[in-house]
Amino acid sequence: MYFLYLDESGNESDPADRFFVLAGAAVFERVTFFLSQSLEAVQTKHFPGLPPVEFHASPIRTGRGFWRNIPEVKRLEILDDIADVIANANEPGVQLFAAAIEKSSALYGEDVVLHATEQILTRFDKFLTKRNEINDPQRGLVVFAEGRFDKRAKVWVNEFRQLGTRWGVIKNLSDIPYFASVKETRLLQVADFVAHSVFMLYERRNPSLIHKFIHRFNLRDGTLHGLRHFRPASSTGPCDCPACYNWNHQGRFGLGSRA
Ligand SMILES: [Zn+2]
Repeated sequence: MYFLYLDESGNESDPADRFFVLAGAAVFERVTFFLSQSLEAVQTKHFPGLPPVEFHASPIRTGRGFWRNIPEVKRLEILDDIADVIANANEPGVQLFAAAIEKSSALYGEDVVLHATEQILTRFDKFLTKRNEINDPQRGLVVFAEGRFDKRAKVWVNEFRQLGTRWGVIKNLSDIPYFASVKETRLLQVADFVAHSVFMLYERRNPSLIHKFIHRFNLRDGTLHGLRHFRPASSTGPCDCPACYNWNHQGRFGLGSRA
């Protein structure tokens, strides 16, 4: 069984954001414990003896809430350590997935969320199908971060099978999606980190968080299936983001040393 932990970044309706991102990590059942432990080790290194500190990428980066009195140099070190945990996580036991949707007058609001969800679940299901083809049959279960998803949860749970049938994506998924608090599981904190890193890359053209683990998005034959950039039909000209770059240069991501 692979659990797909998902979180979102950006606002689907607020025109202040150009992008809406849905992203996260598919984690093999026996790897969940070890990935959580690796994040616990980051806490132990920086805050030994404290009760669990919630790792939320955006407040850590900007120094809000709990992080207000933590010096910037330490906050950057913590972000770096979390990125290292993701970069060095078990392979193939951890696979990253993200959809960065560029909003337009034709695609905004709830439709953006549905489009992103369809894209991610389709790719997750395809990944499970490929495991099956190499005699490693696995099922999938989706876990969403509670929050803004709450208001959608009921509709989604009720209509999931119908939507799934329409999308043709529930072949390898075992059940309806579940919702959990980011505070309660380190694995949703991984999803939060990945979603925020993708948002920073697209919305702010800042690859500083994502560059360490760009190669951990689901990759098949050098093609980055796990990270996709959806552009409005009206956009023209080439795009140099890692997803579009990789599409034309297999095995390369157009980002720094690993490119
Ligand atoms: Zn692109």
